Amino acid sequence: MTKEIAHSERAHALLSASASSRWLACTPSVRLEEQFEETTCTYAEEGTLAHEIGELKLRKHFTEPMGQSTFTRRLNKFKKHELYQDEMLKHTDTYLEYLQSITLGMPVAPYVAVEKKIKYDAYAPEGFGTVDCLIIGGDTLYVNDFKYGKGVPVQAEDNPQLKLYALGAYLEYSFLYPIKNVSLAIIQPRLDSISEWTCPIEYLLEWGESIKPIAQKAFNGEGEFIPGEHCKFCRAKAQCRARAEEFSALADFTNLKPPLLSNEEVGQMLVKGQHIKSWVEALKEYALGECLKGNEIAGWKAVEGRGSRDYVNIDVAFKHLKENGIDDALLYERTPLTVAKLEKVLKKEEYRSLLEEAGHIVKSAGKPALALASDKRQAISPPDAASDFQ
Ligand code: SF4
Repeated sequence: MTKEIAHSERAHALLSASASSRWLACTPSVRLEEQFEETTCTYAEEGTLAHEIGELKLRKHFTEPMGQSTFTRRLNKFKKHELYQDEMLKHTDTYLEYLQSITLGMPVAPYVAVEKKIKYDAYAPEGFGTVDCLIIGGDTLYVNDFKYGKGVPVQAEDNPQLKLYALGAYLEYSFLYPIKNVSLAIIQPRLDSISEWTCPIEYLLEWGESIKPIAQKAFNGEGEFIPGEHCKFCRAKAQCRARAEEFSALADFTNLKPPLLSNEEVGQMLVKGQHIKSWVEALKEYALGECLKGNEIAGWKAVEGRGSRDYVNIDVAFKHLKENGIDDALLYERTPLTVAKLEKVLKKEEYRSLLEEAGHIVKSAGKPALALASDKRQAISPPDAASDFQ
């Protein structure tokens, strides 16, 4: 691991802002998690590297003007990292451009802080975290969060992580700046998503007061275990009894009469079972780990998975094939890139002008999909839905 990556391994609080949607919903989870080792994965490390590149660009532009050669030298260090991909440059540009668009319209030069450590311990015991980019301009405090993940778009509206950062920043800066509004933004360039949300400061402060007793409970490890969507990133997700009991409660439905389920029962079962797949995956991962450690999981064992074959040296192997009369056409296949992949390799403007605007791209509606009633998308009206389904 390079020095630069190590620099960004941020220490985080027990009541971390990024896990706040979990501990606000399931207060005993943070103390339960303490029994489990913290792990990282390639995606997280990739995100850290992208953050480092973004941070460098932001510092150069906003807070630490540096010559082009210093910038290039620093950037080149990141480029040597094994997880570096060229697309990181494009996505961090989108992040920088978004922040520039906020500050450019301001009549007076704003205050900008990059990777700013913020304490929100007045609301959650020992709470602190790092804000990617904080801007104060006019009477508005802007809290900006860069997310490199490409799982699902995260919404800024009422986002507890950003609200905690905003509370901490307000406490730190309200003596210096007349902050009346708070604007939260989550920039997820890999999903083409920038989500923004603004609220008056009174709303934020009221929310802060409302979470104080919940945060104290979480800090003390008290309260009820409440499973839900937030279990996904909990370190206890495989062994948690409350989560297991939630899924075993599905068995209650088997006693229902008459023999066919009503639509209402189908809806209830789907709500209860929506996270069952990821729960079973977490259980399997845990059980495999235990088997490999030599611990017994009743009725299960670890076996060797299906192996794979690979060339010892592809160049040498192909040369050998050609020398033995095998035609090139049999050895290679040439397939066109998908629209999504091509968009990734081309510049945005190039993609638009050469393909979209020239009429080479056709957009079709997505297949009907089932979503919870709380989902922000509009429901498909029944006649369209029926024909699409056909
Ligand atoms: S797995 Fe879910 S229910 Fe269990 S402790 Fe974690 S967040 Fe709470």
